[in-house]
Amino acid sequence: MKFTIKIKRIIPVCIAAGFLAPLLSCLGMAQTIGDSFDDVEDSKGAAAVSQSSHSIERALEDITPEQEYFIGRAVGANLLTNYRIYDGNPNLTLYLNQITTAIVINSSKPEIYNGYHTAILDSDEINAFATSGGHIFITRGLLDCAKSEDALAAILAHEIAHIQLHHSIEAIKSNRVISAIAETSSSVTGLALSDLAEILDEAAEEIVTALQDGYSQKQEFAADIRALELLVGAEYEPSSLLTMLLALEQNQPRHPGGFNQTHPMPEDRIANVQRPLRQYRDKVQDTRSYRENRFTTVK
Ligand SMILES: [Zn+2]
Repeated sequence: MKFTIKIKRIIPVCIAAGFLAPLLSCLGMAQTIGDSFDDVEDSKGAAAVSQSSHSIERALEDITPEQEYFIGRAVGANLLTNYRIYDGNPNLTLYLNQITTAIVINSSKPEIYNGYHTAILDSDEINAFATSGGHIFITRGLLDCAKSEDALAAILAHEIAHIQLHHSIEAIKSNRVISAIAETSSSVTGLALSDLAEILDEAAEEIVTALQDGYSQKQEFAADIRALELLVGAEYEPSSLLTMLLALEQNQPRHPGGFNQTHPMPEDRIANVQRPLRQYRDKVQDTRSYRENRFTTVK
């Protein structure tokens, strides 16, 4: 499929720049590509820009859940060229999937094309990724920071929030924008493919720089707020997100890269959730003790 082939061209660039979370900051792509088109001076180039803007609008129309899944699967496959799945504790993987299910079935988006699936990455790095295909990857390093089932749920809720808030989809749409530009420019205006490649290469340099910052702070904060809602919906203790962020704050200095690179500082995330957490105080019964046994058994 033509579209898939073009997507493949972009994804390795994103992956090379720091795996999935940075990939999701491909959101800047449309703007970057737009900027690079400023250099196109001849009339054909100007026509290409005009034509492309229409294509961009078309490309930004909703993608189907099926496309969403297959693109996400390709992203996951790329991710797994750099990480190995941890299979040393199948019960832990099962446990994480049970928590994932508990969260999503109580959410506003319980079903996606092929469901939500969580796997553990065999890495000491503190990191987590989610694809639009519903794949959630959590490193061993991040799992080690969680000291309760509710803390695990907080990690998962944050990743599920990124999926449900379409943060990854927006990034993938940006890839589609590039694809649309390529298609429009070559077929309608006659802009040479070599020129197009140059434009994309130029844009890619800027994109790689942008990717290293990960999601935007706004998106990360939004994912944390949605995570609180997801936790409450599944009757997990919402303050567990705060507990988890405090654990990250303690552990991060020893772990360069990972969340340190792709997420806002834990103290900023803590400040972001403090106020919304207050609204849940006294409204949610603290049932964490009920889950202690199964957590210690599995973990
Ligand atoms: Zn995040």
